Amino acid sequence: MKYKRIVLKLSGESLMGSSKSGNIDPARLEQYCEEIKSVRSQGVELAIVIGGGNIFRGGQAEALGIDRVQGDYMGMLATVINAMALQSALERHGIYTRLMSGIKMEQVCEPFIRRRAIRHLEKGRLVIFGAGIGNPYFTTDSTASLRAVELQADVVLKGTRVDGVYDKDPEKHSDAVKYNKLSFQEAYEKNLNIMDMTAFTLCMENKLPIIVFDMNQKGNLMKIVNGEEAGTLIS
Ligand code: UDP
Repeated sequence: MKYKRIVLKLSGESLMGSSKSGNIDPARLEQYCEEIKSVRSQGVELAIVIGGGNIFRGGQAEALGIDRVQGDYMGMLATVINAMALQSALERHGIYTRLMSGIKMEQVCEPFIRRRAIRHLEKGRLVIFGAGIGNPYFTTDSTASLRAVELQADVVLKGTRVDGVYDKDPEKHSDAVKYNKLSFQEAYEKNLNIMDMTAFTLCMENKLPIIVFDMNQKGNLMKIVNGEEAGTLIS
């Protein structure tokens, strides 16, 4: 195993899959559980940060006449809904999990306590982080970077629906070129949209590599854990 301790960021939207009726696609949830189970079985310590964009984003608030900060808290609560769904699905696959939240919600999850999170990982439990950092004006990308630095993870994996970082949007431009590797400096200078600036800077300052990869491609997560080339490595 190339990486021993990993923080995996999954967006809320990715959970939607092809579901037209709801926010969470059961097929997508099932697929993610299979992928996660196979890397867990290799003894990799895994923490997952899940987004909430399939339910609510703080950026939507003002257009609805909702205060921005209130909207951010709504977004954070949305991530807890996704985290609970993921936790339940993973447990159905026999994976021991702990859900830790950036906002105290004692009935459904533990509060985030760094030392306790590390202990869970050491004991072989998969940790899911809900409610982001617990502060407005942040994103779950920043949460993934921050938690990865705090937990001394080897890498942040950003699971997306594209297979890496391109020079322009590959969903809009057929001639977009993919980067296999980038330095933080190159990514910064080229203004490539990898994570929001807070998240990106935190990784860069702490020399924490990021891999952007297609989480929907079967076996990709395992490939990365094994050190095979997939997606784009920013280091
Ligand atoms: N959010 C926040 N602080 C955090 C994490 C998230 O305020 O630490 C809010 C923010 O409004 C964000 C929403 O929660 O828009 C959902 O998270 P995000 O947009 O990162 O989800 P994703 O795009 O990954 O689905």
